[in-house]
Amino acid sequence: MATSTSVPVSLPIPRVPRIRRTPEQIAAASPQVTERKVLLAAPRGYCAGVDRAVIAVEKALEHYGAPVYVRKQIVHNVHVVSELESRGAIFVEENEEVPTGALVVFSAHGVSPAVVQSAEDRGLRTIDATCPLVTKVHREAVRFAKADYEILLIGHEGHEEVEGTYGEAPEVTTIVNNPEEADTVVVKDPDKLIWLSQTTLSVDETMETVRRLRERFPNLQDPPSDDICYATTNRQAGIKEIAPDSELVIVVGSANSSNSVRLVEVALDHGAKAAYRVDFANEVDETWFENVSSVGVTSGASVPDVLVQEVLALLADYGFTDVSEVTTAQEDIIFSLPKEIRGKLKESGDDARALGGRRSANETN
Ligand code: SF4
Repeated sequence: MATSTSVPVSLPIPRVPRIRRTPEQIAAASPQVTERKVLLAAPRGYCAGVDRAVIAVEKALEHYGAPVYVRKQIVHNVHVVSELESRGAIFVEENEEVPTGALVVFSAHGVSPAVVQSAEDRGLRTIDATCPLVTKVHREAVRFAKADYEILLIGHEGHEEVEGTYGEAPEVTTIVNNPEEADTVVVKDPDKLIWLSQTTLSVDETMETVRRLRERFPNLQDPPSDDICYATTNRQAGIKEIAPDSELVIVVGSANSSNSVRLVEVALDHGAKAAYRVDFANEVDETWFENVSSVGVTSGASVPDVLVQEVLALLADYGFTDVSEVTTAQEDIIFSLPKEIRGKLKESGDDARALGGRRSANETN
């Protein structure tokens, strides 16, 4: 049996040990602060695509038994990945690390046709947990490439989702990383050009990139529908609403989660005096609370709400007990599970109608 290499997942340890501050010390350092409140963004946390992908791995473990291999992190969250690891999931970087004939799940970020082919060549059994909204962008890439368009793919080079979409039509696709690259990108035919994008970008920055592209290429075509997904858009709209009233914003999410990192940037762009991203409550530095009376809290689309509740509990210890939830959108999107899982559930008499996006905000994975 071939050996496999799991992706190491470890709980973050602060690089520089710091002196913890007590609530009394923070209060003494903040004599002018008389009230402390929290603005909690809603919606936040798990989106339907993440929920679906996590349930797909859970169901695969239940119905096929461990180990279940997962190519790349199923979703970009340290807590979710380590939880699944503890149940028997093995995270790998490439198909070559999966033993021949074993079961591998493709992550929510999607894969290129070359990755699907390599799994087939190795005789792997596969479950595709690509978010349907990422699949939609893949289909757009295929369709416009077939119609002889050149594709400008706005996204971050090296991100798994961008690698997957790019891989659908690499010969006609150019990645545009940021607005500055829009000023220099070279195209073959400016009249047969379309832009597509990664699903988890900053809405404002992407629009700026498109504006600059259109200045140079007036006939640039828009995608048939928004590629930046509803969850990314809603979480950014939520933080825009609370940032102006927040002296400090805490975003719960992992460093490799594009939409979580964007939330920090959006908070700073929209009036927050300071904004930080943390994976866990124990990464919050209590000195951030000095002379602060209002804290905004949100989380990225791959974050179970239990992690936000832990941050709220810490805030409460420091006197931030007045929590107001600020709701800027309602979300009711659900996706059916990957077809391979639905088939297996049906076979075993389990509920084959199981859906992703069904969990309440307070449930964890
Ligand atoms: S963030 Fe958007 S594209 Fe990504 S998994 Fe969630 S719903 Fe799908």
